[in-house]
Amino acid sequence: MATNNSFKLSEVRQMVGDRYQIMGLADIGCHEDIPETADSLAGNALQKARYVHEHYGVDCFADDTGLEIEVLGGEPGVFTARYGAMHGYGESHDTDANIRCLMDKLRNAPNRRACFRTVIALIMGGREHLFEGVVHGEILRERCGAEGFGYDPVFAPEGRGLAFAQMPLAEKNRISHRGRAVRLLTEYLRDISAK
Ligand code: IMP
Repeated sequence: MATNNSFKLSEVRQMVGDRYQIMGLADIGCHEDIPETADSLAGNALQKARYVHEHYGVDCFADDTGLEIEVLGGEPGVFTARYGAMHGYGESHDTDANIRCLMDKLRNAPNRRACFRTVIALIMGGREHLFEGVVHGEILRERCGAEGFGYDPVFAPEGRGLAFAQMPLAEKNRISHRGRAVRLLTEYLRDISAK
């Protein structure tokens, strides 16, 4: 998996179980910053997977995730990791700054509907495949919980009354954007390995 994010690796390893051994970038000795300069989630996921495939010659997959907020016309979307920095809050990839920026933008917004979207790009046997998972929910008015990462303390999936950061990992995986995309990926891998 083309990531160094240990939270993402644990999420995916827990879902895949012992059917596949998932290696991260550190496991293949890849320590460079892989470019993510496309203008869509699918474009970024493909860019990361192609980079690893071209430079390391392994089958691999990469994910890219965006938070889409209804009242902001789908922002920050592909800019989710850089949202705070783009508006003068801290550095790119600074989670605390991203959340502060989001809370300020939505301070007076009654409509707090949002969704998380993950696109996974898989390169296997020289062919490219895309898998997408979405979870709908809302942005909370304050941070809740200590689990997970990123925007988890302020995103509550529909119908649960809890932030992702208040859920055990297995429960988040069952309903999350990445959980859904990873299930499509593992179903595909299972189908081709049964052939
Ligand atoms: P990326 O897919 O790692 O580039 O993530 C883009 C942005 O979305 C980063 O700011 C992440 O922290 C955030 N993000 C990705 N997945 C999740 C998640 O499952 N929960 C909360 N935030 C996430």
